[in-house]
Amino acid sequence: MVFSALSEKLQDTFRRLRGKGKLTEKDVDEALREVKLALLEADVNFRVVRNFINRVRERAVGQEVINSLTPGQMVIKIVHQELTGMMGAKAEKLKTSDRPPSVYLLAGLQGAGKTTTAGKLAGYLQKQGRRPLLVAADVYRPAAVKQLEVLGAQLSVPVFSDPGRDPVAIAAAAVEKARQTQRDVVLIDTAGRLHIDEELMGELAAIKAAVNPVEILLVVDAMTGQDAVNVAQNFNEQLGLTGLILTKLDSDTRGGAALSIREITGCPIKFVGSGEKLDGIEVFHPERLASRILG
Ligand code: GDP
Repeated sequence: MVFSALSEKLQDTFRRLRGKGKLTEKDVDEALREVKLALLEADVNFRVVRNFINRVRERAVGQEVINSLTPGQMVIKIVHQELTGMMGAKAEKLKTSDRPPSVYLLAGLQGAGKTTTAGKLAGYLQKQGRRPLLVAADVYRPAAVKQLEVLGAQLSVPVFSDPGRDPVAIAAAAVEKARQTQRDVVLIDTAGRLHIDEELMGELAAIKAAVNPVEILLVVDAMTGQDAVNVAQNFNEQLGLTGLILTKLDSDTRGGAALSIREITGCPIKFVGSGEKLDGIEVFHPERLASRILG
């Protein structure tokens, strides 16, 4: 699991804290020093770690905590609350348009898992009783169109493509098609590049202007750590994101991106993906992840 190393370290630290009975300010500081190291080792952004530790410390060295009957337990509860808050506190639902279809634009760098995620989301939405239309707006990679068609066939979800046209025209035609065929969600899979460049951003901005998406979701690879955070910040500044989808949470990387990306970008993580199968997507619950990490 992605956070197993972090989880183990924190659980060790807290076991010692709990075992103490009475706590002094020094005990709290020592424990927090260990928490800080564990978070930094897990590749959580250092500013996020610093703010987090300050918030926890401020609450945890108060007399009510230290003098309570179960001070260790109270410190752990504070860590749990602040960890949850750092990831956005509560799960965030996808928005829907008042006038269907709801258009969701998926953006991201090449290899982030965008096309796979488009398929996973289509499957998820279909299970919720929605009628998605997948749109292949990556006209530069014929393989991407094919990949989406294969996913659509597996799910029995229609896929709109028109490789001869430009992505903006494809997106606009797809929304029209969805209207005519009573599809209430349009999932647009866009092109990715190896790096952020003006052309990519220009194209995404043009699609956004043409189809007025209710969600602009950035798909980011959690394995890329702090790079994922930088990429998200950049896309958000240029495009105005409504949410993030973190992929590859199944990998055994340090995973700090999942913990810091919300606080740094201000964008909610709406879903997390793991594995290559179509059912490998779930709504992101900050509280549940915090509980899993703290054990
Ligand atoms: P795109 O270029 O952003 O459209 O990326 P793809 O959807 O083609 O995914 C790139 C690679 O990552 C593919 O081999 C996918 O099977 C794989 N992939 C996507 N999402 C996940 C995930 O959550 N976990 C794992 N392990 N692999 C993933």
